[in-house]
Amino acid sequence: MIAGHVVRTPLVPTITLSNDAGVPVHLKLEHQQVTGSFKLRGAANALLSLDPERRARGVVAASTGNFGRALAFAASQAGVPAVICMSKLVPGNKVEAIRALGAEVRIVGTSQDDAQEEVDRLSAEHGMAMLPPFDHADVIAGQGTIGLELLEDLPDLETVVVPLSGGGLLAGIALAVKSANPRARLIGVTMERGAAMHASLRAGMPVLVEEVESLADSLGGGVGLANRHSFTLVRDLVDDVVLVSETRIADAIRFAYRQEQQVVEGAGAVGIAALMAGLIERPGRTIIVLSGRNIDMNRHAEIVSGQPAEATRA
Ligand SMILES: *Cc1c(COP(=O)(O)O)cnc(C)c1O
Repeated sequence: MIAGHVVRTPLVPTITLSNDAGVPVHLKLEHQQVTGSFKLRGAANALLSLDPERRARGVVAASTGNFGRALAFAASQAGVPAVICMSKLVPGNKVEAIRALGAEVRIVGTSQDDAQEEVDRLSAEHGMAMLPPFDHADVIAGQGTIGLELLEDLPDLETVVVPLSGGGLLAGIALAVKSANPRARLIGVTMERGAAMHASLRAGMPVLVEEVESLADSLGGGVGLANRHSFTLVRDLVDDVVLVSETRIADAIRFAYRQEQQVVEGAGAVGIAALMAGLIERPGRTIIVLSGRNIDMNRHAEIVSGQPAEATRA
């Protein structure tokens, strides 16, 4: 369904990380996806799966930025209106990028849940189709196309390291990879503070977590107390969840740029951060998914010119 709407991103070996970890490590360059993140896969799949009459009334979503950007692009390609609702925590560069794609932007409240209330209202009052960033079967299936590409490119993969927020990316990749290769391990990586999925997995059910600022801003936001798909999928399919500090995330952004010549945002760099910190146990043949590149470039310049933090292993 989404072939021709998204690019098939490269899987490339990384010599520096392979030497460092002592196992073959590959990077899935999904930050090179159109709109700067993997979110286009799920957004395009969900939009194209709507029946045409419903689609014509437009789509509405809450987003920390990248899903909104992807959906705005997919909607503009399909010629349907899009309204994207966001909290004040979303960086200005992301807001501007969404406006530039022709979508209407509404800034509401200070959390993803505040933004969601506006989405519910628009969908109830105007009949717009509400497409959530992760908790939707068609969105998860779209993200799963990354898993299919990984299996084609490296069928004997052993560990896939995936940035984790609401869990659509991890669930989609895990469903695809584990159905072909049940022994493959899926490791979710998220930031130390404000990680709702991690807290929810520990609690055994979706819980609320206070949102805090992080370099990995795309990993912020709750999993939704009424979560229907992604929480149980992640719970059942993930082999481990590891947490990385802000310093580690900054180091990983710098490493990606200086050693691999890749511009990645904080959320996109957490897999590298986890591997460099020695947090992935017995990794074997490993794939690290670089999930996005939508970082403010002034911020990026500051981070990559900073001094690396102590190279201590956790
Ligand atoms: C959304 C996003 C994630 C997390 O994806 P989930 O499906 O919410 O787990 C990771 N990285 C980037 C760059 C993102 O935009």
